[in-house]
Amino acid sequence: MVISIASGKGGTGKTTIAVNLALSLAENVQLLDCDVEEPNSHLFIKPRITGRKKAYLPVPSVDKDKCTFCGKCKEVCAYNAIAVVPPSEDKKGEVLVFENLCHGCGACSLLCPAGAIEETEREIGVVETGESSVLDFAHGRLNIGEAMAPPLIRQVKKLINPGKVTIIDSPPGTSCPVITSVKGSDFCILVTEPTPFGLNDLILAVEVIKKMRIPAGVVINRSGPQDYKTDQYCKKEGVPVLMRIPFDKELAFLYSRGVPFVEEKANYREKFKDIFDFISKSYEENSGNKR
Ligand code: SF4
Ligand code: SF4
Repeated sequence: MVISIASGKGGTGKTTIAVNLALSLAENVQLLDCDVEEPNSHLFIKPRITGRKKAYLPVPSVDKDKCTFCGKCKEVCAYNAIAVVPPSEDKKGEVLVFENLCHGCGACSLLCPAGAIEETEREIGVVETGESSVLDFAHGRLNIGEAMAPPLIRQVKKLINPGKVTIIDSPPGTSCPVITSVKGSDFCILVTEPTPFGLNDLILAVEVIKKMRIPAGVVINRSGPQDYKTDQYCKKEGVPVLMRIPFDKELAFLYSRGVPFVEEKANYREKFKDIFDFISKSYEENSGNKR
């Protein structure tokens, strides 16, 4: 089973939930940190890194001797990553590849009628794997200045072990990296905070997750009397509130020291187990409905 943890807004405590949920389940769990632009689950898990593999993106390289400047590659590229300048009387033709815009989809090389495009590899980051005493761990680290997070996220997700419960710490927001991280999940936990910004971004996140047809629930972090607007929205949308974590100085202190709070507060371990039981039940019901 794959459970992703996402949030429309950054800084809501998404990593805290991912780490503490994973540690509460402990056995047969893997934690994949797909927030590749700023992975920080490892700061809490402190895994022993045992594997490190560079990640590459295939980008086109054009053989100008074979190229007929037909423009097909430019036509098929959905990302404007390739431009064709046809030859003129006084100038040779040119095919320009903008590597930083290329998503490595392979369409141009596949459809080039002259077989003039080969793929070369561009390094975009690294995938690190490891373990702690209780779980398997992996994360991606995107190179500084690199924009192509989704291909690296896909490489981290290749490590999903179907025999384990996989917890995915997704990037914040609702754009391509989040969609790539959450895609294929059996359940998505959306972490929010009861502020106008938090609610606004939760609404966007719920819309995206519903479109992806992934069952979801909400965790309200820094919960308090102002929760009622979030509660009203969740009720209207039929999204269950799975847990509330009050604003608590002690939790903030543990966070600042890189200590997962379930290690100090056993009652939270039980609460996370309850969330997992709820998700497992929902998963079984959904699997039954698909049969
Ligand atoms: S599709 Fe191939 S032949 Fe046509 S312009 Fe592009 S590289 Fe050249
Ligand atoms: S590989 Fe895809 S994204 Fe990259 S230049 Fe070719 S068509 Fe465009």
